[in-house]
Amino acid sequence: MDWNDFRENGHFLVDWIADYRASVEKRPVQSQVPPNSTRAQLPAHPPVQPEGFAEMMADVERVIMPGITHWQSPNFFAYFPSNSSPAAVLGELLSAGLGVQGMLWATSPACTELETHVLDWLVEMLGLPEGFSSRGPGGGVIQDTASSAALCVLLAARERATQGAANQAGLARAGSDLVAYTSTQAHSSIEKAMTIAGLGRESLRLIEVDENFAMRPEALARQLAADQQAGRRLFFISATLGTTSSNAMDPLTALGPLAHQYGCWLHVDAAMSGTAALCPEFRHWFAGLEMADSFNFNPHKWMFTSFDCSCLFVRDRAALVAALSIVPEYLRNAASASGAVIDYRDWQIPLGRRFRALKLWFVIRAFGVAGLRRRVRAHVELAQRFAAWVRADARFELAAPAPLNLVCFRLRAEDAVNERLLTALNASGALYLTHTKLNGRYTLRMSIGAMDTEERHVAAAWGRIQSEAAGLV
Ligand SMILES: *Cc1c(COP(=O)(O)O)cnc(C)c1O
Repeated sequence: MDWNDFRENGHFLVDWIADYRASVEKRPVQSQVPPNSTRAQLPAHPPVQPEGFAEMMADVERVIMPGITHWQSPNFFAYFPSNSSPAAVLGELLSAGLGVQGMLWATSPACTELETHVLDWLVEMLGLPEGFSSRGPGGGVIQDTASSAALCVLLAARERATQGAANQAGLARAGSDLVAYTSTQAHSSIEKAMTIAGLGRESLRLIEVDENFAMRPEALARQLAADQQAGRRLFFISATLGTTSSNAMDPLTALGPLAHQYGCWLHVDAAMSGTAALCPEFRHWFAGLEMADSFNFNPHKWMFTSFDCSCLFVRDRAALVAALSIVPEYLRNAASASGAVIDYRDWQIPLGRRFRALKLWFVIRAFGVAGLRRRVRAHVELAQRFAAWVRADARFELAAPAPLNLVCFRLRAEDAVNERLLTALNASGALYLTHTKLNGRYTLRMSIGAMDTEERHVAAAWGRIQSEAAGLV
């Protein structure tokens, strides 16, 4: 395939994607193929001779598409939104076409500077504390995922707590008594970060939650005091705004002072719900964020930017760089040595990095802040309407408060009945929902946030949920 073939095939593919997206609503949302059916249709050995693009696309239709779950369908209500808007897709294409490595400022100045600039825009757009902008000692960086962001700040906090000794001498000599805190509802990535950082899951305290699944500050205070008494080194607290299970909001205004009192790094994981801060009327959930050391949200979830794009903001970028920077001779250059530029390789785990800021920049410009706000508001309104329908049907109950765009609900029936309801709904292909357990009970999750979801999709989903339920209770 040369660049002339690319031109022709590219036009074809752009048309193919636009056609797919125009018709995705009609496809069964969840792929129903059994294990190994995709592989069974692929040749055992790679082609020795070149093949044509038309053959590849024919196999995409025949082999790949049946195994696709349509995350971009307006009837996709599973897990969390994972939006890939037209502007984002074009940004991805351009990024791949430029083929730039952005590890150092010097390896492509625009890649670094656009990222810094767009992340400063986000500080303004989301009303984040000014301390997260690059105008002072803080700043933002695009990570692949919230999981990586959590690991990076955990390592920064570990190095701060051990004055660099953990990296230098190793944990056996520097850090075996470190303890971190999060709630029982926190995302599994916090636990994973603790294991990767070598601190162990036993050193992560899972603090109990209240009736709304938010961390109890009194319980955290008790545990901090007990650990301090026992001579442990308390170093990291991860709070969540919008837990994965039920969208619970930890009370930052109470957690911030505790983090300060005990000298802990306070991280705020708002992977999905951070996008809500675009709208001033939802910012009350973010009160207290000025006490946090770091904040993370995923434009690749609810802000229409294709995966991967996770924005991490820190109050003290020097702490991140101190934990993650190692400079081999072959990367030394005058710009880095001058101290006048940002080298984002020092803010992340890998060395190489994609030009992700392009798609984010395209999205912000193509929607405008007003357009982003309008869609986020619409999703929250739809979720609130859905919650009202659940409340009004005596067979159902809400299982959690539904502060934004996620509604947790169940039939007033045994777990097995709710499980059957979910299985029947997803087998219909008309929609896709997933589940969680809250207080040990099977709970359905209605997550509303696909770009093209409108009231008619949510209404049709509720109609189907009601009719399936009629056969069960
Ligand atoms: C989705 C989610 C994560 C994980 O996100 P990745 O970017 O896939 O690592 C972490 N925390 C919360 C609260 C989430 O909703």
